[in-house]
Amino acid sequence: MSLPAAPLVEIFSSLQGEGIFVGCRQIFLRLAGCNLQCSYCDTFHDIPQYCRCQADPVRGDFRLIPNPLTVQEVVKRVKALSPHLHHSLSLTGGEPLLHATFLAELLPRLPKTREGIYLETNGTLPEQLEPLLPYVDTIAMDIKLPSTAGIRPAWEEHRRFLQLASCRRVFVKLIVDHESREEEIEEALRIIRSAGDIPLVLQPVTAGGKLRAGPAKLFAWQARALEVLSDVRVIPQVHKWLGCP
Ligand code: SF4
Repeated sequence: MSLPAAPLVEIFSSLQGEGIFVGCRQIFLRLAGCNLQCSYCDTFHDIPQYCRCQADPVRGDFRLIPNPLTVQEVVKRVKALSPHLHHSLSLTGGEPLLHATFLAELLPRLPKTREGIYLETNGTLPEQLEPLLPYVDTIAMDIKLPSTAGIRPAWEEHRRFLQLASCRRVFVKLIVDHESREEEIEEALRIIRSAGDIPLVLQPVTAGGKLRAGPAKLFAWQARALEVLSDVRVIPQVHKWLGCP
C-alpha cells in the first residue's frame, strides 16, 4: 500500500519557545503552507523544494530531502532524533491541519515521545481536526485577533474548533500588540469560557527585540482575563531570545 506524502519545511530537535511548555525539548515537524496570512507571520509560505532534516538531536548537521516526504521517510527522520529523549513531538507550520490526510497515516506510526503529540494550530480548521483527535495529546490553539493579525474574523471557526479540542489537553494563545482591540479580546474570552476553564497564554508580539504592547496593557489584559479564567499567563517567544530555530 502506498502511503500519502506531504511537503515539509524542516524536521529538527529544539526547545519549545511558546506557550505552557516553554523550554521543553521537542522534535518539530514543520509542514509547509498556511490558509491564513497574518501580518506578523515569520514563516515562509512557499513550498520548498527540499525539507531540511536534522541528522541527530545534538549535532547541527542537516540533510536535504526532496519534497514531498512520504510517511515512511518522516518516521525514519524522527527516529534518528531519539524521540524518547523528548518531551513531545510538535506538529507546526504553516498550518499542519492542511495536511490532515497525511497526518492521519503518519501519527499512529510515529515512535513515542514522553508526552506524545503536540499540535500547534491557528484553530480555524475544525473539520480537519476531528479525525486526528485520537492521536493528539496536546493542542496549542491560536485565536486570531483581526486587529493584530490583519485578517478577517474567524470567530465561528475558532468556536467550533475549541469545542472539539476541549476533549484533549488544550490551551489558547492570543497574540497581542499595541493595536489589539478590547472588544476582540472580550470575544476571544467568551469563546474560551464557553468551552471551559481553559488555560490562556497572552503572547506579545516583539519587533527588534522590543514588545509592541507595553507592560501596562499586558497587565490590564491579564487581569481582565483572570476574572473569567483561572490560568492566564503572559509569555513572549522565548526561543528567539535564545537564538533557537
Ligand atoms: S497562522 Fe501562523 S503560519 Fe499561518 S500566516 Fe498566521 S502566523 Fe503565519
